[in-house]
Amino acid sequence: IRLKDHNSDITIDKNEKHPCFTAKAHDYARMHLPVAPKCNIQCNYCHRKYDCNNESRPGVTSDILTPKEALHKYIEIKKKMPNLSVVGIAGPGDALANWENTKETLRYIRAYDKDIVFCLSTNGLKLRKYADQLIELGVTHITVTINTIYEDVAAKIYKYIRYDGKKYFGVEGARLLLEEQWAGVAYLEDKDVLTKVNVVYLKGINDDHIDKIVEKAEAMGASVTNIMGHIPVADTPFEVLEQATKEEITQVRLDNMGTLPQMLHCNQCRADAVGKLGGCRSVS
Ligand code: SF4
Ligand code: SF4
Repeated sequence: IRLKDHNSDITIDKNEKHPCFTAKAHDYARMHLPVAPKCNIQCNYCHRKYDCNNESRPGVTSDILTPKEALHKYIEIKKKMPNLSVVGIAGPGDALANWENTKETLRYIRAYDKDIVFCLSTNGLKLRKYADQLIELGVTHITVTINTIYEDVAAKIYKYIRYDGKKYFGVEGARLLLEEQWAGVAYLEDKDVLTKVNVVYLKGINDDHIDKIVEKAEAMGASVTNIMGHIPVADTPFEVLEQATKEEITQVRLDNMGTLPQMLHCNQCRADAVGKLGGCRSVS
């Protein structure tokens, strides 16, 4: 199936400078700043030793930067890469579980460059809490990874949820996470923020209702969904989960295109990726 034939004009972003949201913007580069090492949940497909699987390839850890180091790295790269149009915070843990670092980094960079587009990726647990501040900081593109609409399925995907200093397990934790994720997405509707929902295709776990997740994302105001293959990571409960084939991923994207635009050009890049989407140094 040649999905690109159906969706090559994906343009969700009116400023057309964000290569992840607009296929036409492929000549622009984005840069991830790895300032967010901690996470507040435990996905059963993630090993904390590795990068966040939200938008990353597992297997290599990133160097963590302080906000000041991140600013210096940004200045250095921007000088060499004038087509750099987006700064994203995508881990290696969760951007919002490291709020002070994320906030400081965005502040420093905005003081230096008033035009750069800010993008952020999160599991959504703290999205509702920080949404107003993110908007104030100038974040215009937010990705939330939401893997199900059902509490019992979420209880299979997440080992625990840590919220305000307390750990929640099973359906209780799952309910909390799902409520916060969807409330966050819904809150961003009508704000000047483009919201992408990432869905990790987990065979035998959520693959029977990906259409329902996309429908809910649409109903809650997301602009696009990105259905991604699961990359098995050693020493995780989902290490042995069978991987979806490329054809299966393509088919499910195609099946859901009528509901929401589908991202087709995701590279599942690392938390410290730099460059154009196709040419990013961390993409094999
Ligand atoms: Fe934003 Fe994700 Fe693209 Fe990075 S890969 S720039 S976080 S949408
Ligand atoms: Fe790992 Fe990301 Fe899940 Fe946190 S949200 S456990 S960093 S995949």
